[in-house]
Amino acid sequence: MSTVFKEGYFTETCPLWPGRALSVRILQTVATVETDYQLLEIFKGEGFGLMLALDGEIQLAESDEFIYHEMFAHVPCFAHPEPENVLVIGGGDGALARELLKHPCIEHIDLCEIDEEVVNQCSRYFPWTAKALNDPRVNVYFQDGAKFIRSCPGMYDIVFVDGPDPVGPGEALFSDRFLADCKRALKPDGILVAQSESYLLHPTVTEAQCRRFRNLFAYSGYYTFSIPSYPGGSLGFCIGCDDHRVDVPYRRPIGTFTKRLKMYSMAVHKASFVLPPFWRNKFEADEE
Ligand code: SAM
Repeated sequence: MSTVFKEGYFTETCPLWPGRALSVRILQTVATVETDYQLLEIFKGEGFGLMLALDGEIQLAESDEFIYHEMFAHVPCFAHPEPENVLVIGGGDGALARELLKHPCIEHIDLCEIDEEVVNQCSRYFPWTAKALNDPRVNVYFQDGAKFIRSCPGMYDIVFVDGPDPVGPGEALFSDRFLADCKRALKPDGILVAQSESYLLHPTVTEAQCRRFRNLFAYSGYYTFSIPSYPGGSLGFCIGCDDHRVDVPYRRPIGTFTKRLKMYSMAVHKASFVLPPFWRNKFEADEE
């Protein structure tokens, strides 16, 4: 449940980073809904615009969600020769689907969101993200992604795990079993990419996720970026593929596509995988 740190502030705290908090002055409370799965809050936060929080965790902010969703969508899409059929687990706000629809080669997006109320509220208050869910190429399922994933072997070019923190309903999305199920849902040259927290703020969670991907795939990596609306100001994704490297683009955005990007570029793609020695050394022993 979200706790108020000071009168009039929204404060995010989390057992993953005890003793710290991210507070935002609330300019206007827009919606507060106890859904069947979580507490859903929508409010205007000073400096961030409209914000969505689930169980007290900030999920997206109007001012910088493009950073998260462009990095999430376009690094794997441009690392793949020609993605046509993709799956999103979570992502009920629709923003990831919005970015994926920019790729003309993508013919079909399955999106499995556990909480229909997230879609309802985002359709009402975040039309610039949720309207993507009405696109004819998008199929929305309201199910637990941890179960849905077992019903689609070998179907997808890319699977995106757009989950929240590994607490509550999101916990199931960080397990070995679930990621192995995600891999089984991929075509042989498919790519799996998952929200994997911040290597700076919760290194233990991110290191464990990196090891899961290293055990599952011939080629894997973690790529990171700065984003002010998440605690610690950084976040990252683990990505894996058995067929080829994913830390360099296979294709590039051309023509008008580049005009629809504010965060992603080929240079940013490559640079986002460059991690400092203290982090790389954690995996050095694995390479000997
Ligand atoms: N796009 C968001 C952002 O910008 O950070 C990422 C978070 S997204 C809102 C997280 C979504 O995952 C939520 O809508 C939540 O309801 C959904 N979710 C959580 N656990 C799930 C599960 N087991 N299966 C499917 N969806 C789940």
